[in-house]
Amino acid sequence: MPTPTPTSSDASARHGATEPGVIAFLGREENRLLIDGQWRQPRSGARFSVVNPASATVLASVADAGEDDVNAAVAAARGAADDGRWSHLRPADRARTLNRIADLLERDCELLAQLETLNNGMTLPTTRGLVQYAIDLFRYYAGWPTKIHGATNPNEPSLFNYTLREPMGVVGAILPWNGSIGASAMKIAPALACGNTVVVKPAEHTPLTVLKLGELLLEAGLPDGVVNIVTGSGPLAGQILSSHPDVDVIAFTGSTHVGRQIQAATAGTLKRTILELGGKTPNIIFPDADIDKAVQMATLGFTFMNGQGCALGTRIFVHAAIHDQVVEGIGRALQAMRVGNPLDPETTVGPLGFRAQYDRVNAYIADGKGAGARLAHAARRPEGDGYFVAPTLFTDVTNDMRIAREEIFGPVAALIRFEDEDDAVLQGNNSEYGLAAAVWTRDLSRAHRMARRMNAGTIWINMIASLDISCPFGGFKQSGIGSELGPDSILSYTRNKAVFIQCDS
Ligand code: NAP
Ligand code: MG
Repeated sequence: MPTPTPTSSDASARHGATEPGVIAFLGREENRLLIDGQWRQPRSGARFSVVNPASATVLASVADAGEDDVNAAVAAARGAADDGRWSHLRPADRARTLNRIADLLERDCELLAQLETLNNGMTLPTTRGLVQYAIDLFRYYAGWPTKIHGATNPNEPSLFNYTLREPMGVVGAILPWNGSIGASAMKIAPALACGNTVVVKPAEHTPLTVLKLGELLLEAGLPDGVVNIVTGSGPLAGQILSSHPDVDVIAFTGSTHVGRQIQAATAGTLKRTILELGGKTPNIIFPDADIDKAVQMATLGFTFMNGQGCALGTRIFVHAAIHDQVVEGIGRALQAMRVGNPLDPETTVGPLGFRAQYDRVNAYIADGKGAGARLAHAARRPEGDGYFVAPTLFTDVTNDMRIAREEIFGPVAALIRFEDEDDAVLQGNNSEYGLAAAVWTRDLSRAHRMARRMNAGTIWINMIASLDISCPFGGFKQSGIGSELGPDSILSYTRNKAVFIQCDS
């Protein structure tokens, strides 16, 4: 596979984009950092290339933030937090700005979806869903500024005791590369609703829609310095942000491996740290389930987002009695998949996000074969230079193989047999991760039992890989600390202050 090179002709430089806003975005010579309401060059002048994973060609040039730039972004956010230019606005005015951001996202929905598809390789229906999710998040959290209350505590008449729920201050948001627009809204919308200021560090491979969101935030009238965007690398920009004494919260979504490094970096300043990490979701199919539906959704459950979703059902546990039926069913579904250019409406699975991920996933497929798992079915992979991996089902997997234990983050599933409910619970829970679990059964009692017995933050019964903005989402065990969405994000981005007033003097 060749090293990515800048595309030469105008036509190929558009990468197949049809939206005028995307063509204009890609036509820029360079992208800058958003610091204190200004688009600034990085102090060092360093830049890096962002690549279209469907063609392995360069999409855009992005600023590589260094220590000075991150410090400047944090100083801008700190200044904006301390002078109250955002937190002291009337709650209804903060709400109006959040709704305006949602309006602009709605206006530019197709532009953002196409830009995200070109950057992360996910199909247009998937990226349209991510943009819609971002819109819904800004609207949902626009409802919150007017509803964040403290409490009055019962006490003797001479003592007035109440609590104030205040913003934390400066939030550092560090994002993963799978679904930048959704992941950024998941942190920015509630952080702003609570009155915080933010410094965002997008993943180095997928910063483009976050930069576009930055433009929309300014257009919506967000005051300068309230959201700052530093594109750059994790080990440099991300690390500086995590350990910075003027950052009050780090909200991180990414791998468990990096989550541990973040936890260590934030320990020095004891800042609040929210970690949304990896998963290896067990998807358990009982013989009493609607098998056709379970098979269809199990296939989607590990290939959706090209297999790059934290909560995807990558360990498929199947009762011995229906094993062959499920394997054949998933095989047929994989054969019907179209792997290819994610802008093509016929495509169901696009490329992986970037070269290193492509190599990693292929190495896991080789590892599975070497460990004695049977490669039962794979979809067809297209020719060409993109980072395409054929969705792959391994059978005869045991729960101790690497392909069953480690997060692959590609369209690869490990199918494992189980004997009875106790065995399914034991094997399903036998993982360092605890992000989610899915169960397929028509037995109501079993459904409720399994919901309690599975050791994971989200349980799906007869469905898989679905979130709701009003419902908390967070991982158990090594899948994370804290939770996001719904009212939980409001608690995560606020602090509770107690006030006592002696009234009899
Ligand atoms: P990643 O490699 O852990 O990176 C996540 C972010 O952390 C990136 O912005 C990365 O920057 C940055 N980073 C890397 N090293 C850092 C360091 N030492 N200090 C501070 N920041 C650092 O994860 P990814 O590959 O982008 O995303 C996939 C992972 O995210 C999977 O494990 C997936 O399960 C997880 N995920 C979890 C959830 C959830 O809600 N639980 C949702 C989505 C994804 P660079 O891009 O420059 O490396
Ligand atoms: Mg990385």
